[in-house]
Amino acid sequence: MVQSAFGKFFFYADYLATQQAEMTFVKDPCGIVCVLVTYMAVLYADYVVTHWIILQTMPNSLWAPFHVVAFNTIVFLLGMAHLKAVLLDPGTVPLPQIRIDFSDLHSEKNYGHEREEWTMCTRCETYRPPRAHHCRICKRCIRRMDHHCPWINNCVGERNQKYFLQFLMYVCALAVYSIFLIVVSWVYPCEDCHTDVAQAQSRMMHSVLLLLESALFGLFVIAIMVDQMHAILYDETAVEAVQQKGPYRIHRPKMALLAEVCGRGHPMLWMLPCTSLNRKHHDVPLLSHDV
Ligand SMILES: [Zn+2]
Ligand SMILES: [Zn+2]
Repeated sequence: MVQSAFGKFFFYADYLATQQAEMTFVKDPCGIVCVLVTYMAVLYADYVVTHWIILQTMPNSLWAPFHVVAFNTIVFLLGMAHLKAVLLDPGTVPLPQIRIDFSDLHSEKNYGHEREEWTMCTRCETYRPPRAHHCRICKRCIRRMDHHCPWINNCVGERNQKYFLQFLMYVCALAVYSIFLIVVSWVYPCEDCHTDVAQAQSRMMHSVLLLLESALFGLFVIAIMVDQMHAILYDETAVEAVQQKGPYRIHRPKMALLAEVCGRGHPMLWMLPCTSLNRKHHDVPLLSHDV
């Protein structure tokens, strides 16, 4: 037990020394391909909406510049949220500089509130705070890990879940907007536009492809968004849901749970990918641990 207390103390000291690490990049081929597919899908949607729908079907309308600006604003916000979700450290538990003695591993297991206690990761060979789990793809323990998402090539954890949620929200908005513009272009065809058959066929082909893409990605992200909101509001990550840990926690107000993920700023700011999380707030569980 004494050994363990010293081990945690050294771990705690190491943690303070490694707080600077903010960025991450997971070298997972599948994740990198998924990220590239995401960017290609978004760029294709932007190309079809701008070139084939807005410029081809409403060239003389004031709605054209409005839709171009609105659509590209969502694309920009989506890109920013996605980049942050990809590159920000999701809450990696630092590795100790000094090797920790795990010889009293069995005596550690008999704590009364083991569900919310610090645990040990034998793969990282370190102590980890409550709610941290080991990710086999990142090969590290991640604080409040929900799941590893190939679409952001990163874990969804304590520090990047907000940006992951924003990314899902903007993909959903882009999908709905695309479908709306396609339907409008079909319901109100441009009377004054030149009617070149080849061009009309190309426009139709791109519209159908984008419609399918939007429906597919839109439904997919709605399903993940519902899952994420359930995980946040019921204070139980996807990993914990499998282990059934959530129901044992003290009940907290929904807004407090949302603020824990999105930061303590005004709820309107929760939608913007430029506001940073309250680092101090997020570090409290680690710093307050009794060593
Ligand atoms: Zn680990
Ligand atoms: Zn991971």
